[in-house]
Amino acid sequence: MKIEFKKIPITGIDFDTKIGDLRFYGVAEKISEKLVKCKGVIEGNFSHSCDRCGEDFLQNLKEEIEIFVCQGIYKEDNELLNLIESFDDFVNFDTILKSELESYRCDYLYCKNCK
Ligand SMILES: [Zn+2]
Repeated sequence: MKIEFKKIPITGIDFDTKIGDLRFYGVAEKISEKLVKCKGVIEGNFSHSCDRCGEDFLQNLKEEIEIFVCQGIYKEDNELLNLIESFDDFVNFDTILKSELESYRCDYLYCKNCK
């Protein structure tokens, strides 16, 4: 799902999206003219090949995340961790979820036999 920047209020708006068995839900709020803060939870599981034996297994996940989405290039002075720049006037929650998932997949994960 995606929401237009201009439709996100400072009081916040709920979002809820899903990719496979992973759900990402929470509240998006406008914190400055071109900046939106998304605070929520990623919950569910995803399949991964064990980094030791190569066996596919399901990894459970429940993690609180806070991520900022900037409309266009981020130009403010204070540096933000977890920043995504958006170039189409939308906050795309699927894109956020996908990029978080990619970062989980970059970690070394082991199946229950190899832990
Ligand atoms: Zn393994």
